[in-house]
Amino acid sequence: MGLSKIITRIRAAEAAADRAPGAVTLIAVSKIQPPDRVEAVLDAGHRVFGENYVQEAGAKWPAWRDRYPGVELHMIGPLQTNKLKPALALFDAIHTLDRPSLAQKLARQVQAHGTCPRLFVQVNTGREPQKAGILPDETDGFVSACRALDLRLYGLMCIPPDDQDPQPHFRALREMAERNGLSGLSMGMSADFETAIAEGATHVRVGSAIFGARTVRPSA
Ligand SMILES: *Cc1c(COP(=O)(O)O)cnc(C)c1O
Repeated sequence: MGLSKIITRIRAAEAAADRAPGAVTLIAVSKIQPPDRVEAVLDAGHRVFGENYVQEAGAKWPAWRDRYPGVELHMIGPLQTNKLKPALALFDAIHTLDRPSLAQKLARQVQAHGTCPRLFVQVNTGREPQKAGILPDETDGFVSACRALDLRLYGLMCIPPDDQDPQPHFRALREMAERNGLSGLSMGMSADFETAIAEGATHVRVGSAIFGARTVRPSA
């Protein structure tokens, strides 16, 4: 279990960037991991987790929430509008607000649900056709449109292209967040979280470096 090593590296990266200890929240990405690995991390005292699939998260987390008070759950995978209701019941934060139709349905559901999770807009910084997210040029307009729907936004999120240096993507995301008055920056994964922290990440999403490699994908 790599939790303590990752926490040590996060604290070192915060210090190197002249940021306060604890400025960065570690989201332990537990999708598709065997339950004993997740329980080891819970037993070690960690409480902030990320999941990619509403169905998988709904099957696992209610029981863990009962056993381990203080769990905070982040949705980091693509969100289908027909899963919004269970998603709002499960998640404390959604990192993948990635299209106008989702914003509209979310605004309606939030009214009915009464509370709103922390919201991050996913930006497709690499303009990759196969990837979800708002294009960089459209981000300011999308943020305004969300605000017009009374959605309180917390930050921006990105997943840089696999085959590129992530640093310019992280920097571009930070600039977009700053000019839109957003304080949250969800960026950095197992391979690049230190670079993301140097560029201002407030939330890093780390899976395999904590839990080990993921083996099978569920059919969710
Ligand atoms: C799976 C996933 C992660 C974690 O990836 P690792 O490389 O295992 O750290 C982070 N963010 C998102 C959006 C993911 O889907």
